[in-house]
Amino acid sequence: MTSFTNKTLITQEYPKPPFNKQRQPIPGLASKMEPRPDHGETSYRGTGRLTGRKALITGGDSGIGRAVAIAYAREGADVAINYLPEEEEDAAEVVKLIEAEGRKAVAIPGDIRSESFCQQLVKEAAQKLDGLDILVNNAGRQQFNESIRTLSTEDFDATFKTNVYAMFWITKAALEYLPAGSSIINTSSVQAYEPSAILLDYAQTKASIAAFTKALAKQLGEQQIRVNAVAPGPYWTPLQVCGGQPQEKVEQFGATAPLGRPGQPAEIAPLYVTFAETTNSFTSGQVWCSDGGTGTL
Ligand code: NAD
Ligand code: MG
Repeated sequence: MTSFTNKTLITQEYPKPPFNKQRQPIPGLASKMEPRPDHGETSYRGTGRLTGRKALITGGDSGIGRAVAIAYAREGADVAINYLPEEEEDAAEVVKLIEAEGRKAVAIPGDIRSESFCQQLVKEAAQKLDGLDILVNNAGRQQFNESIRTLSTEDFDATFKTNVYAMFWITKAALEYLPAGSSIINTSSVQAYEPSAILLDYAQTKASIAAFTKALAKQLGEQQIRVNAVAPGPYWTPLQVCGGQPQEKVEQFGATAPLGRPGQPAEIAPLYVTFAETTNSFTSGQVWCSDGGTGTL
């Protein structure tokens, strides 16, 4: 039998497990991961799909949010990113990458577990970008815990504040600015549908995000604002090496995915671009999964 090969079909040889042991304090830095995640810094090519758009991305310093920020800038959008003050080093790299595209970059550090900060964040982003028409709720907290008996109220609360309340507060504030045709994109997870025993609080928040997305899409249809979610997993990001997974799972991260490896953030950014662009004007209330082939959703 003749076998045909086409080297252009696989553009990157992405890293496979086993990975080295590594543990960073939360929230961690992409620059300290080994190997460094690929956020599309040298590979993403835009074709003007978001020309003139104005986006706010939470958790835009690293991981999936950084890949989305790079893609959006290369597609022609101005981008504001939010992150925690400890992540300034990662955020500064993202600002440089956005500006290298000739786009406006706005960096707004702060903790989204505060409602007043969330309101301030949206206001500042809209003022500095001179408008807002894409909101990407992407920041997240994931800390594994073996048992409901050891899961503290403080941890449970912090996970819900970061993943659920902040999305509610930021979205509500953003509605003051989002015109017809805008797009809201939330970040759920395969955990919403296949929850791990050790991610009891996190998995619940990701299920909440899927339900929030579907209910809000029904509310905002009349205003011509679309609401969708992306459901990733497993992706090679700081979240996983800062207590998101136990060390043995970090070493084998992605091994059970049919593609045999974790995804790199660059591989999921195109989904966020597709949800955001105006040509995709009839898709709302959807959750789009990217997890290396399990077919969960
Ligand atoms: P990441 O660590 O790069 O990004 C998470 C970001 O959340 C951090 O960079 C930080 O800026 C932000 N954040 C956390 N707590 C915050 C707070 N209190 N205030 C402000 N910002 C805060 O990791 P990631 O994997 O790219 O995570 C992005 C999203 O993807 C999260 O919602 C996560 O739940 C989701 N997700 C990731 C995976 C995965 O395998 N990596 C799988 C499913 C879902
Ligand atoms: Mg980060």
